[in-house]
Amino acid sequence: MLEKAGVPSGQQVAAVKPSKERLARGPVAIVECFQKIPCDPCYTACKRGGFLPFEDINDLPRMDFEKCNGCGICIGACPGLAIFIVDETYSEDEALVMIPWEFLPVPAEGSTVQGLNREGEAISEVKVKKVRSAGKNNNTYILTLIVPKEFAHDIRSIDN
Ligand code: SF4
Ligand code: SF4
Repeated sequence: MLEKAGVPSGQQVAAVKPSKERLARGPVAIVECFQKIPCDPCYTACKRGGFLPFEDINDLPRMDFEKCNGCGICIGACPGLAIFIVDETYSEDEALVMIPWEFLPVPAEGSTVQGLNREGEAISEVKVKKVRSAGKNNNTYILTLIVPKEFAHDIRSIDN
């Protein structure tokens, strides 16, 4: 599925999801990187040890969710746009989802846009809470979205 359509399988997604208990404690990175390629800037970007050391540059990233505080710094370091932050503790009905964004226009803070699933289908309106640049010489923006909690593990892009 990933090779043909660029969409990971449900099994792949489930394998990288933090435990319910960890998700209930606050923001945490979810790394949906499923293709073995020579790449490791996620590992070097995290100064908290959220990524376990790579034994080989082609390894898939492995996480230590206990060390991750959901800061989102690694999002802007990932050329594969494969890293997301989910915070299920935002409110009773809503979660925050941080996603990478490299297209124009960059959505405005406070705007309402369509949240897309991994297949690119619109599944819910979401609000753009925050827009921040990933840094100088980096074309990536990090969007913080307010999403209905039931879609926190489905919304991975937007249509604005
Ligand atoms: S979100 Fe922050 S703490 Fe967590 S893995 Fe990424 S850089 Fe490390
Ligand atoms: S930087 Fe992104 S694409 Fe590269 S190994 Fe890390 S998660 Fe995968």
